[in-house]
Order: sequence, then C-alpha cells, then structure tokens
Amino acid sequence: MTKRGPAPSQPCGTKSAYARHIRNGEPACEPCRQAIRDYHRQRRAQTARIRVTTTPDVVDTAANYAAASGLPLDDVYTAALAAGIASLNKRLRNTRKPDSV
Ligand SMILES: [Zn+2]
Repeated sequence: MTKRGPAPSQPCGTKSAYARHIRNGEPACEPCRQAIRDYHRQRRAQTARIRVTTTPDVVDTAANYAAASGLPLDDVYTAALAAGIASLNKRLRNTRKPDSV
C-alpha cells in the first residue's frame, strides 16, 4: 500500500464510514448501516429520557399559554418543549457536582 493523500479513513462499521458511503453516492455496506442504526438508537434513547423528565411542567405551561394566547397548542407545545429542554440543560449544568465523574 502506497502512502499518499489524506489521513487514513475510518474502517467500515463506523459512523464516519457510513457518511463516506453517502458522500460518495454509493449504498452503505451492512456493517456501516448497523453502525448508523446503533448511533441513532442511542440518540433516541437520550432524547426520550430528557423528554420524560420535562413533560409535566411543559405540558401544563403549554396548555395554559395556548389557552391564554389563542395560539395552536401544537405550536406552543413544540416551543415549550424546546424551552423546557433548554432550561433543564441549564439546571443540569448548575447542579453538576465536580466530584461526580
Ligand atoms: Zn461500509
């Protein structure tokens, strides 16, 4: 193998290799498809956990605001959910203990 060009790419079965298949306009191989499935499954699990912790006050606030403002509940709920996650993340940052690594 001659050494030339950019740094060696990630092997198949990684998220980077999956992205490379897509960039090259070719179908991703099975190991790469599995890698991207695993990645998205993890992301979904993380998002779901945040949503569950936020839901009670977000739902109340969104319903109250929609009733008071006359805006569609779906729009208010989406915005409230985003705001709820943002404030939850802020709370997490503020409560993180330095010794809990
Ligand atoms: Zn591949």
